[in-house]
Amino acid sequence: MIERADILVLGLGPAGASAARAAAQRGRRVVALERKRKAGIPVQCAEFVPAMIDAEVAGAVRQRIQAMATFVEDEAADLQPDFPGQMLDRAAFDAGLVARAAQAGADCRLDRRVIRIAKDGTVHLADGGRLRARVIVGADGPRSQAGRAIGSVNTDLVETRQVTVPLRQPHAATDIFLSADMPGGYGWLFPKGGVANLGAGVVPAHRGCLKRILERLHASLGDRVGREILATTGGVIPVGGMLQPWGRLEETLVLLAGDAAGLANPVTGAGIAAAVQSGRLAGEAAASGAAPAYQEELEDLFEAALARALRRRRELLERVPTKAALRRGWIAYPEYWQ
Ligand SMILES: Cc1cc2nc3c(=O)[nH]c(=O)nc-3n(C[C@H](O)[C@H](O)[C@H](O)COP(=O)(O)OP(=O)(O)OC[C@H]3O[C@@H](n4cnc5c(N)ncnc54)[C@H](O)[C@@H]3O)c2cc1C
Repeated sequence: MIERADILVLGLGPAGASAARAAAQRGRRVVALERKRKAGIPVQCAEFVPAMIDAEVAGAVRQRIQAMATFVEDEAADLQPDFPGQMLDRAAFDAGLVARAAQAGADCRLDRRVIRIAKDGTVHLADGGRLRARVIVGADGPRSQAGRAIGSVNTDLVETRQVTVPLRQPHAATDIFLSADMPGGYGWLFPKGGVANLGAGVVPAHRGCLKRILERLHASLGDRVGREILATTGGVIPVGGMLQPWGRLEETLVLLAGDAAGLANPVTGAGIAAAVQSGRLAGEAAASGAAPAYQEELEDLFEAALARALRRRRELLERVPTKAALRRGWIAYPEYWQ
């Protein structure tokens, strides 16, 4: 028995939940499949979003951010006083988006792992279930199976490791640590009330150094944070820029959204806002069937920022970066935008 739906959404992260909601609001029969048992858990995220997606984050905000402090190698911080955003409870955020998709009428199924997508568009689940739809929205993250099925694969990735630690003093800035010791990535301390997410990312070739890099960063913060590790996470971020966001598997149209479409920023690694925006557009396009228009919308929204970030990232990776090169490669500095 192959179950039928109008639209199948793979993954219920921010992109998938936004897509499922938008498509269900347009009256389509939407089935959304997520391998996690509880939406948003485990969290693999530093939880910062810029001010732009206020409506979606309501209820999940844990702290306001006003500024960004950038540390280049061992120098004192450069402060950008006007860099607003919010720190989220990412588990609550994802769960909230899934609840809104379900309210709109999407059939959101947790604990459903997609193991294969056949050439004819049939989606096979680990529990033996099989589903087919007119449209598949691939919102299944950086290593998307939907993307693989249509030949759109994120090949450039950053590997990350993050710990949550006690934060001893209130802080309203995101701290960024730039160093030649973190090739292709950077370190971060993002405050969330009485704790902070402290992490680092690097190119995959340096993955083996991540634990040491993070321990050194932790030690360098002295009394600002506690020694205790409250949680550890990590994961990959796609940093190669936007992929071809749609294709076909016989009669089935496949649209990609969020990390599956390569929409995370190649310099900052931020991808939550792009996932929400692209997910909503993918849900609308899935309902209308207008794939080329979807691609155009993504290009209009994201291409310029992604192209600049890709250029800067490539410049940084050409040789061991000087302090000036690190500044030119980071969004807080005017050189980045020149
Ligand atoms: C350590 C770390 C820190 C980050 N910090 C930030 C930050 O501070 N701010 C920011 O904006 N971005 C951050 N990002 C990036 C951000 O998390 C992603 O860009 C964002 O989650 C993309 O949303 P998405 O819905 O496209 O994908 P995801 O959130 O990855 O959701 C994909 C969903 O698909 C599910 N799935 C995958 N495969 C299958 C399968 N086979 N079957 C069923 N379900 C499946 C997954 O379980 C997941 O729930 C960070 C990423 C990492 C790794």
